[in-house]
Amino acid sequence: MQNRREVLKFGLKAVALAAAGSFVWTKAVKADKLVLLRPPGAKNESEFLASCIRCGLCVEACPFDTLKLATLSSGVANGTPHFTPRETPCKLCEDIPCVVACPTNALDKILVSTNGELDINKARMGVAMIDTHSCIAYWGIRCDACYRDCPLIDKALKLEYRRNERTAKHAFLLPVVDMDVCTGCGVCERVCITQNPAIKIMPRDIVMGSVDQNYVKGWVEGDEKRLEGVDTNIKLDINKAKDYLNDGEL
Ligand code: SF4
Ligand code: SF4
Ligand code: SF4
Repeated sequence: MQNRREVLKFGLKAVALAAAGSFVWTKAVKADKLVLLRPPGAKNESEFLASCIRCGLCVEACPFDTLKLATLSSGVANGTPHFTPRETPCKLCEDIPCVVACPTNALDKILVSTNGELDINKARMGVAMIDTHSCIAYWGIRCDACYRDCPLIDKALKLEYRRNERTAKHAFLLPVVDMDVCTGCGVCERVCITQNPAIKIMPRDIVMGSVDQNYVKGWVEGDEKRLEGVDTNIKLDINKAKDYLNDGEL
C-alpha cells in the first residue's frame, strides 16, 4: 500500500504530465491550423501530410540548407519539411535533389516534370505577393532588387512602366508578379530591401482565387475548352427574377 508521500508524489507527477500533455496538444492544434511553405513538388497540404513520413531525407539532400524540419514551435506539423524564404530561399536546383530523395512521393516528381524530364520551373511552392504600400518602387523610388534577382526575370517578375502623375516628369518602374509563372522560390523576398519585406511568398491555395466555369477569356486560344461537358440547359425562372427585382427596395 502506498504511503501519503508516495501518493502525493504520484499526484504531482500526474499533474505535471497532464500539463505537459496539454501544452503539446495545444501546440499541435495550433500547428495544424498553420500552413507554411513546402519544398518543390509537394502535393496539396492534406495529401502531403498523409504521405510524408518525416524521414528528413529531403532536408538532408538540399545542398543549400533551405529546408528545415518543423518542430512543435514552428507552427507546422512536427517533423515535416518547410522553408523560410527570408532566411534561405530555394535555389531551384535543376536536378531537384530534395524531390529525388523523397521515398514516398510526398514530393511528387510528376508535379515538377515536363515530358518526363525534371523541370524545376514547374515548382509552385507558393506565390510572391507585393505589398504596394511598402514597396518603395510604388512610391516612385528606384528599386528593382527583387526583379534583378528573380531566377525567372521578365517571366515571373516583370517591371511595368507607368507615368508618375505626382511629379509629372518621372516614371514608376513597378515590379509585377505573373502568378502563372512564379515558382515561389522566395529569392525576391530574401533580397527585398525593406525592413519587413514588401514582397512575400504566400501559400498559393490561400491567396489565389478561381473563376471556375463562370467566365471565359475569349482572347485566349482554347480557353472555352474548359466548358466542354458543362450543362448549358439550365432553366431559369424569369418570374422569380422579376419578383425579386420588383419586391425589393431596388
Ligand atoms: S530545389 Fe534545391 S534548394 Fe530548393 S529545396 Fe530542393 S534541394 Fe533545396
Ligand atoms: S523525404 Fe519525403 S517523406 Fe521524407 S521528410 Fe521529406 S517529404 Fe517527408
Ligand atoms: S518567388 Fe520571387 S524570385 Fe521566385 S520566381 Fe517568384 S517572383 Fe521570381
